[in-house]
Amino acid sequence: MAESSKRGQESPEQAEFRAYCRAWLEENRPPPTRMPLPQAAYEVTADEHRSYLVDWQAKCYEAGLIATDVAKEYGGHGHTGFQQIASAEVRRAQVPYFINWIGLGMTAPTLLAHGTQAQKQTYLPPIFSGEDIWCQGFSEPGAGSDLVSLSTSAVKQGDNWLVNGSKVWTSLGALARWMLLLARTDKADKYNGITYFICPMDVAGVTVNPIHKMTGESGFNEVVLDNVIVPDHMRIDEVGAGWKVAMSTLTSERGAAQGVGAVASSESPMGTMEQLIALAKGTSRNGRSVWDDPVWRDRIMKLYERTEALMQSSRRAANRELNGGAMRIPLQGKLVGSEIGQAVHQCALAILGMASSLYVGDANSVADGKWTLGYMNTYTGTISGGSSEIQRNILGERVLGLPKTK
Ligand SMILES: Cc1cc2nc3c(=O)[nH]c(=O)nc-3n(C[C@H](O)[C@H](O)[C@H](O)COP(=O)(O)OP(=O)(O)OC[C@H]3O[C@@H](n4cnc5c(N)ncnc54)[C@H](O)[C@@H]3O)c2cc1C
Repeated sequence: MAESSKRGQESPEQAEFRAYCRAWLEENRPPPTRMPLPQAAYEVTADEHRSYLVDWQAKCYEAGLIATDVAKEYGGHGHTGFQQIASAEVRRAQVPYFINWIGLGMTAPTLLAHGTQAQKQTYLPPIFSGEDIWCQGFSEPGAGSDLVSLSTSAVKQGDNWLVNGSKVWTSLGALARWMLLLARTDKADKYNGITYFICPMDVAGVTVNPIHKMTGESGFNEVVLDNVIVPDHMRIDEVGAGWKVAMSTLTSERGAAQGVGAVASSESPMGTMEQLIALAKGTSRNGRSVWDDPVWRDRIMKLYERTEALMQSSRRAANRELNGGAMRIPLQGKLVGSEIGQAVHQCALAILGMASSLYVGDANSVADGKWTLGYMNTYTGTISGGSSEIQRNILGERVLGLPKTK
């Protein structure tokens, strides 16, 4: 299908903005880093990567590709209906991702919906520029899918709150200046006893311990909070309104994570699909290329169809009427996209056969072990921000109106 007809709804201003984004990204593509970047933003730990990515994000923000639709009074560019175009062009160009994806994808939408005027004016501009990196302190050892069981406590002391507890799986925790923190302010009330705070990470009582994943990476962390003082002006919304605010953050994370321009990976689903086809064409099996074998080609083309359907669906997500209040298309997109990503990588490992056991850094590996590393990392998408099982429950209950699970 021609690109223009896929975008039949685009106004002349939007088309012009798309052309601008495309040309800007082409002209300003940064040179590669000396040490290759991790596959996704949540695995960044090295200082070299951090400063390179912060510079890149700042440049993209100045160019209008981030906070495109945010009001100028909060540091945005004041457009309407342009952010999706900018984000799509960033993905298409396969340029580096934005390191501050939690700030852009979760904090900014949460503050825009629930923050005070002062909070929006203080925290949003450095989120957009990448100057302040954010992390998300929701999960705890005893509270993941069942988030409402969280037990980190916040006790009011004058104008401050004293916070104690521990958070786990905190992506970017080692680099972040601020954390989105959920804490219990009333033990007697499960849902209305949670309050939402902005917690500083560079103060006494905060300890960040890296967690090492099976991939060898350590982007996520345990964060221990020991008598940490959080001023009351860093509370978001009312005392006891934390669950409501958290649901708004999670709606962004579980589907609309694009937020005000978050792009957490440099690979688009179709880009990865095209790499899979190239892998099949370049791999020989039984005297011919895998691509020339009809059984393999059938398997690959089924994945291609699913990927194309995902892309069409994400284009439909721009249409408010189709999308509905329940964010039905983005919510499906997280579920379907993460599962397709896993299936594409599974297929790649099958094509590689024995070679799939060679990992990153092995001179004999194909594409420096990218497919094997990528396969393990695709489990991130089906667990974080709500596992696929939880995502199916949400779609069943909130989008299809099915009875609630017990
Ligand atoms: C790479 C990565 C990065 C992450 N980053 C962050 C972060 O920055 N901040 C943060 O707060 N958290 C983060 N998380 C944590 C993530 O949100 C949790 O892992 C997730 O919510 C699942 O919780 P859990 O790990 O405790 O698993 P559990 O909740 O213990 O679930 C275990 C299994 O049981 C299933 N299950 C549980 N309840 C139900 C149910 N009601 N119905 C059906 N099945 C169910 C789940 O689907 C899963 O398969 C991250 C996780 C990963 C993998």
